[in-house]
Amino acid sequence: MDLTEEIERLRVRCIGCAKCSNACPSMEKGGMDPMEIMMGGEADLSTCITCGNCTRVCHRTDPCAVIKDMIAMERDIHVSQTFRDTGFAMEPVEISPAPEWGGDDIMVMLGCTVRSLTPYLPYAMAVAMRSMGVGASVLPEETCCLHPTQFREMQEIERRSYRSAMGRSAGGKRIVALCPGCSEELRGAMVDAEHVIQFLAANIDRLPKFETPIKVAMEPGCSALPYRKEMRAVLEAMGCTVTNRDFGCCGKRNALAPELMEDRERECAGADWIVVGCPLCLDRYDDQEGGLPAMHIAELVALAAGDGTTLDLHRIRKQ
Ligand code: SF4
Ligand code: SF4
Repeated sequence: MDLTEEIERLRVRCIGCAKCSNACPSMEKGGMDPMEIMMGGEADLSTCITCGNCTRVCHRTDPCAVIKDMIAMERDIHVSQTFRDTGFAMEPVEISPAPEWGGDDIMVMLGCTVRSLTPYLPYAMAVAMRSMGVGASVLPEETCCLHPTQFREMQEIERRSYRSAMGRSAGGKRIVALCPGCSEELRGAMVDAEHVIQFLAANIDRLPKFETPIKVAMEPGCSALPYRKEMRAVLEAMGCTVTNRDFGCCGKRNALAPELMEDRERECAGADWIVVGCPLCLDRYDDQEGGLPAMHIAELVALAAGDGTTLDLHRIRKQ
């Protein structure tokens, strides 16, 4: 696909309202200004976290797509051999411990991050679903959601064809994703998918509860920020006390991540655990030197049900 044409097509729709700039965690830390890029200016693209916050607040065009297009061109990024060989953007590893799925009320989408960086989360998700009396299995023909920059060289119609194929493989069952980026991409292709926070909030009466309240800080992650109210309701319904009021971007592995993570850890101080909605955030929090222990919300449900097996597999463990 001609990315230059795509960039211009998206740029001309920008009205210069600056909503994207105000939502950008990179700009907040002295990095790039997405509006500047959309107005034809220049910026250090390496400071973009590809969090998508700019696109989420923009009702005119798609600044994140423009920036990913420019990054793909600048760094000559193409669809990887890993994707051609495996269907995933990153090399998958063995899912372990082995999850005990049962039933097919919902189809769980694991996603590339879970399959390569947090392969213990399916076990926790299976425990969580069983504890709620929900039959769940893994989405049969799962591939990458095609969010990463390497897929910008594809036509949108080709990217959508992968997402639609995943939707069809669910056989009419609802897809519940562990990664909010995956559910966001599938919904963009009109596939009936939701993030696990949304699913838990819709089934709040089925949630297991902690006998003794625990103090948690919640960090939904950029893609799950629209579900922050649902996340708080889910945590409180399980008997958790939420200690923080502000949420933010972990910075992924960007050069700005250390500064952003300092903010997040400061905001979360005083909690026993940080609970996240995104597996990529989890991987980042779990690497923060001196940071609080973190877990995915599926692990919190599993823990409330009496199974904290996966928490021993984190790099940062609760003392
Ligand atoms: S990209 Fe969208 S949000 Fe940003 S300045 Fe342009 S119109 Fe506004
Ligand atoms: S993707 Fe995130 S970091 Fe990059 S310009 Fe948009 S809001 Fe800023």
